[in-house]
Amino acid sequence: MGTKYIFVTGGVVSSLGKGVATASIGLLLKSYGLKVTLQKIDPYINIDPGTMNPYQHGEVYVTEDGSECDLDIGHYERFLHGALTRDNNITSGQIYNSVITKERRGEYLGKTVQVVPHITDEIKSRIMKLAGSNSVDVVITEIGGTVGDIEGQPFLEAVRQMRLDHGRNNTMYVHLTFVPYIKAAREFKTKPTQHSVRELRAIGIQPDILLCRSDSWLTDEERKKISLFCNVTNEAVIDAVDVECIYEIPLIFHKQKLDQLIVDLLGLDVGEPDLEEWRLFVERAKSPTKTVEIAVCGKYVELRDSYKSIIESLYHAAVANDARLKIKWIDTDRMEDDIQLSNTLALSDGILIPGGFGIRGVEGKIKIVKYARENKKPFLGICLGMQCMVIEYARNVCGMKGANSTEFDDNTSYPVIDLLPEQKKIKALGGTMRLGNWPCQLEPKTLARKIYGRDVVEERHRHRYEVSPKYLKALSDKGLIFSGRSPNKKLMEIAEISGHPFFLGTQFHPEFTSRPLAPSPVFYNFIGSSMKKA
Ligand code: GLN
Repeated sequence: MGTKYIFVTGGVVSSLGKGVATASIGLLLKSYGLKVTLQKIDPYINIDPGTMNPYQHGEVYVTEDGSECDLDIGHYERFLHGALTRDNNITSGQIYNSVITKERRGEYLGKTVQVVPHITDEIKSRIMKLAGSNSVDVVITEIGGTVGDIEGQPFLEAVRQMRLDHGRNNTMYVHLTFVPYIKAAREFKTKPTQHSVRELRAIGIQPDILLCRSDSWLTDEERKKISLFCNVTNEAVIDAVDVECIYEIPLIFHKQKLDQLIVDLLGLDVGEPDLEEWRLFVERAKSPTKTVEIAVCGKYVELRDSYKSIIESLYHAAVANDARLKIKWIDTDRMEDDIQLSNTLALSDGILIPGGFGIRGVEGKIKIVKYARENKKPFLGICLGMQCMVIEYARNVCGMKGANSTEFDDNTSYPVIDLLPEQKKIKALGGTMRLGNWPCQLEPKTLARKIYGRDVVEERHRHRYEVSPKYLKALSDKGLIFSGRSPNKKLMEIAEISGHPFFLGTQFHPEFTSRPLAPSPVFYNFIGSSMKKA
């Protein structure tokens, strides 16, 4: 059997949850024992989102191989329970960059280089690359943006051609659309969907399946109407109804036999799907018996997408601890006075400081670390969060007045967080941080070693600054334990203290490896300790 290709497009408006819908289809097909991979196409000109502000883009997700990519890759990995690579996220910037590089090398033999066929060929080759000489059964490619966007046109043209190249039985088009409910008229409106499908058909793509995002179930009448006007069979009009837990979406699709339909249309030779474990997870997630409240303190809190993987990791860990997760968002850039802050923090069961860049909000974070340390509140610091933990310890326990990171104060007398010599040489911004998987050796008899239950772990990184080796002795002498280090002992990966229920910082990002059925051990134990305190 050759590789099958599924393309997911979006219509009407953005933010309909195309990433989760794509991931859900991936999970369903994987549950048949098929080898599935997922790909996101982002039509913007940036090479990757690594240089974008979180307010523009949301979280920058990091893969094992160190690519900085779209947060949808996070959804894909969480639903597929697998690790993806830099090939799973492509942008217009990458496509044009590679075509222009080839042109300069003279590879087009004197031809005029054009969007069709040169850009579209490049796009197709990036999609087909994922088939890995047919070892993958299904490649699902999600096209970012909304049908009708100017910058998405070359991608839609490329995927249109894919049916011509690979045949009807090997390609499928799924369109996610919005069916709004108009309260005053007391009815669903199907017109926006009709328009967006018409737009797709004008390009030459007739969707095989429609996923209709709506806030309640469509009636048979509406389904028929959509089917008739959009030229899609009745059973292929699938309801993507709003749910409380995103992990329920594959089950909602399965209930409407979406997976069976895909299997039939693509002629996939499979047995029965196995969704049992997933179903149990969703059941547990929906009816926990306890609650846990975590204060998440960062400066991008207005845009929750900036902390997507953090939120999901806390959620996985809460479910595994049989707790309903509540998050208290604290904007470290707009902090209340100290007393109010203490009162707010006191009400939470645990405190988390996630990663971040730039000086804004840093002093607020350092205050919060101090509160957590002194009041024995379970605390998890991630990346910048760990760096703040080291700065706080240096200032308030080791007496290093004004200790700081050189990211925030170049002239500090105690640069406890600093650039290593190899980073100092780097001038370019894109893709030049310490990125992706790095091994970390855990010290015996520490919290970190206990949490992981192993001697060596690999976790994903995305940062430029490190704990400065110059201050290691001073910090350790006063009780800060570096319980995780790089195998050559030069890089500090985990810091903790003893005599506190849970006070731990990781230079890496454990949130990128947490999965619903396999929560990150760091998050799992952090939530566990927070609940004990409560
Ligand atoms: N700004 C810090 C650094 O570059 C931390 C980065 C992060 O939290 N991801 O090292």
